[in-house]
Amino acid sequence: MSGTRRIRVYHSARYEADIGEHVMPIRKFGMVRRAIEEEGLPVDIIEPAPVADVDLLRVHTPEYLRAISTGEPLALAQSQKFPWSPQLAEAVRWTNGGCIAALFAALEDGIAGNLASGFHHSHREHGEGYCTFNGLVVAADRARAEGRISRSLVVDMDLHYGNGTASLLSTRPSMFQLSIYGNWYDRNLAYRDVAAASTPDTQNAWSVPVPNGAGRAEYLGILEARLGAAIDRARPDVILYQAGADPYKEDPYSPLDLDHAALRARDTYVFETAKRRGIPVMWVLAGGYTKDTSKVVEVHLNTVRAAVEVYT
Ligand SMILES: [Zn+2]
Repeated sequence: MSGTRRIRVYHSARYEADIGEHVMPIRKFGMVRRAIEEEGLPVDIIEPAPVADVDLLRVHTPEYLRAISTGEPLALAQSQKFPWSPQLAEAVRWTNGGCIAALFAALEDGIAGNLASGFHHSHREHGEGYCTFNGLVVAADRARAEGRISRSLVVDMDLHYGNGTASLLSTRPSMFQLSIYGNWYDRNLAYRDVAAASTPDTQNAWSVPVPNGAGRAEYLGILEARLGAAIDRARPDVILYQAGADPYKEDPYSPLDLDHAALRARDTYVFETAKRRGIPVMWVLAGGYTKDTSKVVEVHLNTVRAAVEVYT
């Protein structure tokens, strides 16, 4: 795994659908790509194939897949809170295809990324919170079906609890999730105060709330205390790392005091730990709603820079 000269990262212009004026800055995927190219990072940006029905149906119900594909019933097709369009139905197939491609590239190279989210709020029968199909579980199930992995660990460092992934993992004992979050999340509602509302651990998902106002030392301390233990518990063949941008201190949802350097240190710690333990990592971008989108892009670009620093 050492000696990787260039890192494979997946992106397509087709990741972006026109969702109008929306709190989710969908244009950020292309902005991260351009920033990587402008900086001349040792990264190959590759177009994935869109996900096929067979891969989606391991994770989601036929009724839900049909709703996303056809727009009917509309309430289900828009359960993730995006306006449905044929273009959106296409875009979510490309972003999930990127998750699969990145996971397989990570198994070969030790590291790879997808310039889209892991869609951790997506459930078996419906979407939530801008997440349509759960790309993390779709990719892990595909790799498992092909016999490429048996066990996997989701490290979810988005600001919000990975509720959709946790629900999908309840029937997947070969998977484990570590979710370290500053905002609890349930039924399309984010609860800012994790002391008032959070969720208990499940059989295979650790739920680790970060107290309001936590800064770099406290946040990284929690990660350092939990990541090694989660790896010991999960014994994974691969780590799926959800590198959220929304813990950033200026994010409208974030009650945490984390600047760009703190979040880059988080990414570096995850990559260094995985590399030291000999476990491949696939990373995805996730949430990020700071009004100045360039600050969201900077968090995501820092994840790429951290990967380059650790692996090339
Ligand atoms: Zn989030």
